[in-house]
Amino acid sequence: MASPAKGAFLQIGLVAALTVVLVLLAVLQYHWSLEISRAERTRIEASLNTSVNQFRQEFYRELTQVSTAFHSDPTAEPDDFWSSYAERYQAWTRTAARPDLVANVFVWQAGAPNSRMLQLRTEDGKFEPVDWPASLASLRGRVEDESRQPPGPGPGPGGAWTLEERIPALVRPIYNISGPRWRRGEPPPRRVVLGFAIVELNRTALDRLLAELAQRYFAGPDGFIYNVLVESGGPEGGVIYRSDPQLTAASMTPPDAHAALVPAAEGAPPRGGRGGRGGGNRGAFPPRTRGAFIVPSAAEEPWQLLARHKGGSLESVVAADRRRNLLLSFGVLLLLAVSMALIIVSTQRARRLARLQMEFVAGVSHELRTPVAVICSAADNLAEGFVGAKDQVKEYGALIRNEGRRLAGMIEQILRFAAGQSRAAHYELGPVAAEEAIGRVLASISALPEAEGFTVEREIEPGLPAVEADAAALTHCLENLILNALKYGGEQRWMRVRAGKANGGSRVRISVEDRGAGIDPADLPHIFEPFYRGKSAQAAQIHGTGLGLSLAREIAEGMGGRLDASSELGRGSTFTLELPAAAADAEPLRQTA
Ligand code: ADP
Repeated sequence: MASPAKGAFLQIGLVAALTVVLVLLAVLQYHWSLEISRAERTRIEASLNTSVNQFRQEFYRELTQVSTAFHSDPTAEPDDFWSSYAERYQAWTRTAARPDLVANVFVWQAGAPNSRMLQLRTEDGKFEPVDWPASLASLRGRVEDESRQPPGPGPGPGGAWTLEERIPALVRPIYNISGPRWRRGEPPPRRVVLGFAIVELNRTALDRLLAELAQRYFAGPDGFIYNVLVESGGPEGGVIYRSDPQLTAASMTPPDAHAALVPAAEGAPPRGGRGGRGGGNRGAFPPRTRGAFIVPSAAEEPWQLLARHKGGSLESVVAADRRRNLLLSFGVLLLLAVSMALIIVSTQRARRLARLQMEFVAGVSHELRTPVAVICSAADNLAEGFVGAKDQVKEYGALIRNEGRRLAGMIEQILRFAAGQSRAAHYELGPVAAEEAIGRVLASISALPEAEGFTVEREIEPGLPAVEADAAALTHCLENLILNALKYGGEQRWMRVRAGKANGGSRVRISVEDRGAGIDPADLPHIFEPFYRGKSAQAAQIHGTGLGLSLAREIAEGMGGRLDASSELGRGSTFTLELPAAAADAEPLRQTA
């Protein structure tokens, strides 16, 4: 078997090793969570950028589909233009997924002073002259200026549509290119501006398109993950679309991602506006500069798409996630540490209890054997007729009675302890006069030989209320304290029992004081534990089982009270029992126990 010192050393080593492992795990966990949150942030950013780009591509594709419906052949004869426009538009409306995106189709025919505005009649597909519509007023000056330009080099095959975002409309000049067919490498042919095609877009259908795209790219099964806002650029600003009616441009600052909804053409001069917001996604979606494509109007700031996580900025969302994960893992580690501590403490307790029980068995057998031996030898002497004188017989009778009582007392204590361990004790509470209970116990011990020559002082506060207690249990509890004062009272052979009101009269305090050797401070915290016996009590060979105080405290607490001890080594000890006072009008029960 390992020696106790070796065992303790092993235990300390084990605790230290486990603590080091736990601290190491906590540090590793902290670093891992840092790495994980960095990777998580990169992943979320990449997926957000993908969503932003897909949103823009899809929007661009929808507008491109509108613009291709009005694609014209620049080499066609001027007279063919308008009828081919009408035909193309009508064919497109039959097949398009979103024909409602187009509100009106206009053609402005150049050729001052006979320039005129024509509008497509959807019923018969014919263009009819109309006044400049008020909604297109902002375009008029620019369109007329452009058409007054002298014929110049053409734009090459195709040409860009301009998205006039404020109207909103798609606008494109209609050229007529004269001369032979243009070939790559040759100087571009000369162009003649015949007019402008103006496709006015339907604001409601556009809003619906933006809402669908926002839902598709920024929402999960439980609703939006990101707040999405499309705002018109420029100093006057204005919100075109918002995923939540409460959103404002200010509440999106700083956005987690932003980009022009329709990107500027490659080589276009950089604009102001949100370019100052940092990186963004500008340039991640370069428009094609050849063939049919759409560019934002040079006269306006382009629409901006902004996305910001619903839980605040991406930074704070990732940080909150990390905090939660760290809390969770530290919680698990803490739980592990607490369980380890509990296991160690309970193992220690179990070992101590086992040792105490061993000592108890040894002690109790010795304690039981002594009175039994005394009783047997006294009984032998009487039986064999060695004791004849009346006085001697009386003396032997008293000896047998006292030893028998001691034996019964010990057996009683052991049985009570065993009963208390197997089930919760049941107390029948009622008003009990503390003075009477004290008097009864003092009277019963006065007959004991140990009490001979003992000074017992009694101080009972006048008008003391009855206590709410089980009379038999209270007697047993007081008996333990008073017998201990007798046993451990030392040379002084003095004790004082006091009873008084406490806590404003709601409780009664009974104290038993002695002037004995006192209790060693190392023993004091343990004396209420079962089987615990003070070292000085064992050294002085004072009889006992180590169960008395444990039972007394159990009784006190079972009746809603408490039992405490204070002691000064060499000066004596005081045990204080505090119990609830019975209701003022309660009549104390007279006990005979
Ligand atoms: P026992 O008296 O049988 O040993 P108890 O549970 O009554 O068991 O007491 C536990 C220990 O507390 C005693 O062994 C003794 O060391 C100490 N003790 C109890 N009462 C007193 C007292 N009045 N004065 C000094 N020590 C005491």
